Amino acid sequence: MLKSKPSLSRRKINNSGAEQELIIVSNRCPVSNLRKGAESISIGGLTSALHQVAMEQDATWVFVSDNANYEYIKSGEEVPGINYNLVPVKFPEKVYKAYYNGYSNSLIWPLFHYFPDKCLFSDQDWEHYKTVNEEIAKNIAEIAKAKPNAKIWIQDYHLLLVADYLRKLGVGNKIGLFLHIPFPTYEIFRILPQRQELLNAMLCYDLVGFHTKSYVSNFRRSVRRLVGQSLAPAGTYVIENEGHSTHIYDFPISVDTQYILDLNEAEATHKLSKDLREKIRQPYIGLGVDRLDYTKGIAHRLKALDLFFKLNPKYRGKLTFIQIAVPSRSQVGEYDKIKNEVEEMVARINGQYGDLSWQPVIFINRSVPFQKLVSYFQIADFALITPLRDGMNLVAKEFLLSKKPEASLILSELAGAAEALPGLDFVNPYNISQMAECIKDVIENPGKQSEVTLSHVEGLKNYDVHQWARNFLSMLSEIERSDESTRPVRQTI
Ligand code: UDP
Repeated sequence: MLKSKPSLSRRKINNSGAEQELIIVSNRCPVSNLRKGAESISIGGLTSALHQVAMEQDATWVFVSDNANYEYIKSGEEVPGINYNLVPVKFPEKVYKAYYNGYSNSLIWPLFHYFPDKCLFSDQDWEHYKTVNEEIAKNIAEIAKAKPNAKIWIQDYHLLLVADYLRKLGVGNKIGLFLHIPFPTYEIFRILPQRQELLNAMLCYDLVGFHTKSYVSNFRRSVRRLVGQSLAPAGTYVIENEGHSTHIYDFPISVDTQYILDLNEAEATHKLSKDLREKIRQPYIGLGVDRLDYTKGIAHRLKALDLFFKLNPKYRGKLTFIQIAVPSRSQVGEYDKIKNEVEEMVARINGQYGDLSWQPVIFINRSVPFQKLVSYFQIADFALITPLRDGMNLVAKEFLLSKKPEASLILSELAGAAEALPGLDFVNPYNISQMAECIKDVIENPGKQSEVTLSHVEGLKNYDVHQWARNFLSMLSEIERSDESTRPVRQTI
């Protein structure tokens, strides 16, 4: 057990022997098209970082399967370019829907992003969430039997209970969890009917990673209020509970910096940017890039744009705003609602201000390949990244690496990225007039962020997504488990 804050030295994770064994666990298969194998891994993203970690180690990747990849993997066909084991775990459709669309995305997701009014509370969803977590744990336990030294790394909010089940199954391996979404304040977290079970299960991990210090401190406070007042005083990184120690720490996720810098320089990207710029005749371009999710604040942003055009008629016909919104979770009702709302607002703004030669908002409702996205970053005069709440927001970091020197980033103070990127133009995404004012300010003051951007680019060169993964795994390696044979089995679920 580490008593003080562990060091985050740059340590090669694939050094030797047992250290190299790793079991990664996620909701989704890392490979989107098994026939294409490694080619179909989203380059530059989180999956790509974890894929590289897995390729360097003796790794197994366990995930909740959709039927297509299950059949392919079970058929024994090789997945091209992948040298680790893929283990899909399959569930009946009813169970999967209740676990994924239900408990994960209609309760934990909205609640942890501060939208209690969008939560669906269903005992049945909870039962199925437990079933999936338990079954995943059983599959991991089978693998861990032959690999007692393997580290187990669970990803995200879909699988919070896995460590608890693993401990009950007698698995003594080191287990880490990284939460890719915010951990909310106690007043929000306490709304969750299963708050006690979830928190107790999270205390079965050896290491829990969050994006920011605020989320770590929110977690500590929930532990104090729900588990034991003396367990997690402010500033502590180790919570000792019932003979088990859980380390909690912030690991702000980063991006694949070198990959993006290389794309910035590529001839093909320049050609894409040139073509795009030539298609837009207006002198100013604004940009928004998000999944089409109610947490991203797209409707609020469009209201700010509407107000901007209302208050500043001289910019009508001069500014085009491009909103890329990737379709997402279409089986969850709230996502249909936000899609309709955004489409109506785009139509209204275009109808009110546009004419034959100018469309104020260009709405792209599909996923854009990453290289093309970089070309959008390169032509924009400003980006509006204004989520109502976001664990981190990678687009903010990607934009800073690719934007032209005089372009600005208007960033929501409610995104995790705001803690990592000081000195930018911050807005409260609920404050429409402040956002409209800020749009005017960045257009009229080009280059105002150029100095601060340079320092952020240097920061992102030193701390990229690969370093993020190394940091998490080396801290998990450094932790000595205190309860390998002695921990009592608790009935928490
Ligand atoms: N992205 C993409 N194509 C698109 C829109 C987004 O490749 O058309 C990528 C984007 O570059 C970023 C990720 O999707 O890496 C979105 O991550 P973020 O943390 O911003 O939000 P999330 O969707 O995880 O909530």
